[in-house]
Amino acid sequence: MADDLSPLGSEIRRLIAATGPMTVAEYMRRCLTDPKHGYYMTRDPLGARGDFTTAPEISQMFGELIGLWLASVWRQMGSPDNVRLIELGPGRATMMLDVLRAVKVVEGFSTAIMLHFVEISPTLQEVQQRRLEPLGVPMLWHKTLEEVPGGPCLILANEFIDALPVHQAIRRGNAWYERVIELSDDDTLHFGMAYDALPHFEAALPRELRQSPEGSVFEWRSDRVALEVGRRVREQGAALILDYGHTDVALGESLQAVVGHAYTDPLAAPGEADLTAHVDFEAIAQIAESIGALIHGPIQQRDLLIELGIEQRAAMLKANASPEKAAEIDLALSRLTAAGTTGMGELFKALAIASPALGALPGFEKSR
Ligand code: SAH
Repeated sequence: MADDLSPLGSEIRRLIAATGPMTVAEYMRRCLTDPKHGYYMTRDPLGARGDFTTAPEISQMFGELIGLWLASVWRQMGSPDNVRLIELGPGRATMMLDVLRAVKVVEGFSTAIMLHFVEISPTLQEVQQRRLEPLGVPMLWHKTLEEVPGGPCLILANEFIDALPVHQAIRRGNAWYERVIELSDDDTLHFGMAYDALPHFEAALPRELRQSPEGSVFEWRSDRVALEVGRRVREQGAALILDYGHTDVALGESLQAVVGHAYTDPLAAPGEADLTAHVDFEAIAQIAESIGALIHGPIQQRDLLIELGIEQRAAMLKANASPEKAAEIDLALSRLTAAGTTGMGELFKALAIASPALGALPGFEKSR
């Protein structure tokens, strides 16, 4: 008996029955972005009533500080008259609204901005358009970063990369096999292993991960986004990538599914749950560096926010706030900067990728 009745679940079962096991990456891609039933395509999953929340949804301080970071970097770029401000996966556009409000006071910057949003979900694009168009800033939407025209650019990505499909390989004997999703005799989905080993996989792994124990799992993503970001910023530009993940190469599986702020089985209801996996920041840094961009960090998100002045910003906001509002600000500050499982401060990292000509970037000075 099938354990779920989601339309995408039936479709994936049909596909596997017809063409054989599906890689984890292909499964994730379909679950999140299938044009008809993909998780992001049909809903706005963010906020208290949604499935998960993100830093910009927690507090306006997050986007405001990112805005000031962008303005400083724009000045380091020589204050170009035209700059493309590109955001990958803008969600409800909350961060961009806070960014734009914060940079209004920076002379020349707001008027230099042309906004570009890379968004695959028609539902979220509609939300973004509704919230941003009243501002009167020129803006365009694209399905991929490759479609955005060239020129000086500033790129933002908050909790975008974690939603990109991840491949998994598992070590058996002396070889690595790609992990796949298969169908059991009773028509349920379960994890399995490709029949043939991945050729030369061990040799391509970072040295410290070779000879790993039996059953180890290694995750990786396509190079595409990191290459494209690096290529764009190396001439004149910078990118800020914020997400959860690890700063050094590591083994282990991190694929997870979330519905209504709670974890669930990633195979239980395809298309109905948010699927994510940790971001391998070292892999992104290496790819971008290999084509001539300069890397800053990765550092902990909390360190970036504190360097950029989140504590002072919270104190300022509290000075004019009611006691209830002041308590909210304190709570938001703690959620954004605290370590451990209650806060986003430690698991979340920040990586900047920039043109080597720019030198040190705000918030990352200590990481150099
Ligand atoms: N940055 C926002 C939203 C994060 S959710 C925030 O921090 O609140 C992930 C976002 O990326 C959503 O807007 C989702 O629709 C978009 N997205 C996911 N996969 C995508 C893909 N392959 N291409 C473009 N956008 C994608």
